[in-house]
Amino acid sequence: MWPPDPQPPNLGADVLRRSSGSYRRAPTVGAASSERVRSNHDRDKGGSGGRVTSFAMSSTPTSSASLHGWGRTAPTLAHVTVPRSQADVAAAVRAAGHRGVIARGLGRSYGDPAQNAGGLVLDMTGLARPPAIDADTGVAVVDGGVSLDTLMRAALPLGWWVPVLPGTRQVTIGGAIGADVHGKNHHTKGSFGNHVLSMDLVTADGGVRTLTPDGPEAELFWATVGGMGLTGVIVSATVQLHRTESAYFVVDTDRTRDLDELLTLLTDGSDDTYGYSAAWFDTTTTDAKLGRAVLTRGSLATRDQLPLKLRNDPLKFEAPQLLTFPDVFPNGLANPATLRAFSHLWYHKAPRRQRGAIQNITAFYQVLDLFGDWNRVYGSRGFLQYQFLLPFGEEPALRRIAERIAASRHSSGLNVLKRFGAGNQAPLSFPQPGWTVTVDFPVAAGLHRFCDELDELVLGAGGRLYLAKESRTTGATFKRGYPRFEEWRKVRDEADPDGVFVSDMARRLELTGR
Ligand SMILES: Cc1cc2nc3c(=O)[nH]c(=O)nc-3n(C[C@H](O)[C@H](O)[C@H](O)COP(=O)(O)OP(=O)(O)OC[C@H]3O[C@@H](n4cnc5c(N)ncnc54)[C@H](O)[C@@H]3O)c2cc1C
Repeated sequence: MWPPDPQPPNLGADVLRRSSGSYRRAPTVGAASSERVRSNHDRDKGGSGGRVTSFAMSSTPTSSASLHGWGRTAPTLAHVTVPRSQADVAAAVRAAGHRGVIARGLGRSYGDPAQNAGGLVLDMTGLARPPAIDADTGVAVVDGGVSLDTLMRAALPLGWWVPVLPGTRQVTIGGAIGADVHGKNHHTKGSFGNHVLSMDLVTADGGVRTLTPDGPEAELFWATVGGMGLTGVIVSATVQLHRTESAYFVVDTDRTRDLDELLTLLTDGSDDTYGYSAAWFDTTTTDAKLGRAVLTRGSLATRDQLPLKLRNDPLKFEAPQLLTFPDVFPNGLANPATLRAFSHLWYHKAPRRQRGAIQNITAFYQVLDLFGDWNRVYGSRGFLQYQFLLPFGEEPALRRIAERIAASRHSSGLNVLKRFGAGNQAPLSFPQPGWTVTVDFPVAAGLHRFCDELDELVLGAGGRLYLAKESRTTGATFKRGYPRFEEWRKVRDEADPDGVFVSDMARRLELTGR
């Protein structure tokens, strides 16, 4: 059963052999053994509660588990199976019962898109052979359950870089395509789907389709990018990596007095000179300090830009996890007073203006990856990440939303503002030219009503919400932000007329027929 097949997946492997004689599998970084898969599931899945029963549903064993997203809200019970091969995935899809099936990666979505109450969930972390990377062309063939962390660590020694990395590397290839994730470099490199050359998708009939962005089934390719697992199961993808001379960034930092100064820095043309850019901003301050921020911007360093001591091994990456938080934190620890204190410290610990600091990606923008299970700090009630997009020109609405949050009883310490570049063809892809904001609210009385108010401000300004973070809105509100929803729905329904693929989110937001 494991490994399922010594060859890399079909199309990708052919591409590699054609393009270069130097095809090789990367070192066995993060290869999954069954033991590893089990511990991943229990420790890393961001939402696996206690296992209840074990039984056989298709050829692979199935157990019953309570699953939730990274926000730890709305857990539901599902049958979970861990396919180890494309054939296992196909068999599981064919055997899905009337409650349907959905793929799950590392459970880093905040809400309920990788849950399926009473139905089947495919834990894709079992389909995770080491990535196959062409050292000359940077074309990588990657199983759907491989994490971006594993891909990055495999690519770096060969001088290649994963073109889009979200705020954590603990997401799978399937999750990265399913949500069409973006990073700090959206304004220069777009979202993950832009870099996918092809993917193998197990569809509702149990067959496998090889999709490309401009091939005969391009519509299904783009419906799958950002389609939240509702078109099928991505068993592998071919991804174009980017060249890099080092594993480090050259980073500039600016602390701004308020939101206006931040927006000025982001629109005065300087932002285009950086590959990566995003700001942490303060949601607890008002008036002259409203939205004061720490803006960090940088680009991958060339070898010559590194200090001498790093030049011998410029592609070395080391960022061990410092600690894993135990599940002991009480509800209410993250409250307006503690979040205000945290925000004050975070703002003042940053340099007022710093140029040319050398940092690796963890220090630059994936600081939370240093801590395992950090979401436990919010207690058992969990938290809600609210991420929205406002088109350029809607800065007054952005200011109104910042004022509304600062005046409310709902505080947030982890807040990001970023400038997006052009979107792609995918009808449900979140990024569009404009401003995107994320705020993390601890779950507390009145929060949902407050977010309904924010929805009105966002939607009223022509904005939208992000499915990877969403956990509480309505189908009508979500669809108002996505004028191409029906186009997506038509392609999806043609690929899956009986509604085999379904999730808690799909039911809640009425994304599919079931
Ligand atoms: C700390 C943190 C920071 C983050 N920062 C960012 C950020 O900067 N930018 C950003 O865009 N996102 C960000 N995210 C969100 C995260 O990148 C996405 O939610 C991503 O989809 C999670 O991947 P996953 O493997 O955990 O997938 P899951 O959360 O398990 O699933 C996500 C969706 O993908 C689908 N899916 C998963 N695997 C497959 C597959 N093999 N085939 C088909 N569909 C599949 C699921 O059905 C589900 O709909 C962040 C999340 C966290 C926890």
